[in-house]
Amino acid sequence: MIHIETIKEMRDKSQAARQNGQSIGFVATMGFLHEGHLQLVKNARKENDLVVVSIFVNPLQFNQSSDLATYPRDLARDTALLEAEGVDIVFHPSVEEMYPKQSVVQMSLLSRQDVLCGASRPGHFEGVLKVLSKLFLIIQPTKTYFGIKDAQQVAVVEALIEELNFDITLVPVPTIREPDGLALSSRNVRLSPEERKDATNIYQALRAGQQYIRSNEYWSRDQVIDYMEHILRERISGKVDYVNCLTYPDLQPLINENDSVILAVAVYYENARLIDNLILDQSGEEIYRSDKK
Ligand code: AMP
Repeated sequence: MIHIETIKEMRDKSQAARQNGQSIGFVATMGFLHEGHLQLVKNARKENDLVVVSIFVNPLQFNQSSDLATYPRDLARDTALLEAEGVDIVFHPSVEEMYPKQSVVQMSLLSRQDVLCGASRPGHFEGVLKVLSKLFLIIQPTKTYFGIKDAQQVAVVEALIEELNFDITLVPVPTIREPDGLALSSRNVRLSPEERKDATNIYQALRAGQQYIRSNEYWSRDQVIDYMEHILRERISGKVDYVNCLTYPDLQPLINENDSVILAVAVYYENARLIDNLILDQSGEEIYRSDKK
């Protein structure tokens, strides 16, 4: 596995690979890797000649400086995990390499960002768009792999790829969970043992919302939200940031017959904000399902 820290070297390697007719699979991460990230990497390994994983904690997408300052990092452990998965290149540029001077260009969204995490984290998706546009142009992937755990990010990046005509296929990957249902996240290490137990109720509330849709042919958005809210209020010690039910991927409140829907929850604990979701068809069946929990 090669370590690359400069844009020039990364671009040269990618260009050479593309000229040799090799496909490039790309996974963007902020490091502190877990099985969720590694599932993306495994899929990329299966489907491409060259696999590139970036590790870059992107300051532009953090709206709270304390979250950025305490974001967990362990490059040595991450690189060992990636090596074991047969990754070819790990790209870990410094902040100065990615953003050498005061920015002139900013990217913004016209929709898909005024709800869920976009509403709670002003500027977050602008930062995501900027860093991913740069990474896509530097790495020139054939396919890129994103977790449904961050479903709003998938919706936003799909629009970015389509509207800016990036010649890249986005592959959404189902959420990898702990045996009790908690979605794996780099931020889970910041939970106290009590919060860790409490957090499994996020998943329970989502499943209850799904069950409500399954068992009520004429369900309404308000009913589903009320039902999930009630469960969270009864069981969760963390502070609920949002509970929502929207169309997916457009993230609109008006749900028509045949729309896919997202049930989404975010909860603040003392040192971590956790998010999770389920994406369902109208009858309540999960669209992105993992065999693994
Ligand atoms: P992050 O390092 O948090 O920016 O995540 C990098 C990628 O891993 C994103 O596409 C995430 O959606 C994905 N990811 C994070 N957690 C999980 C998970 N539990 N299951 C599947 N993918 C995940």
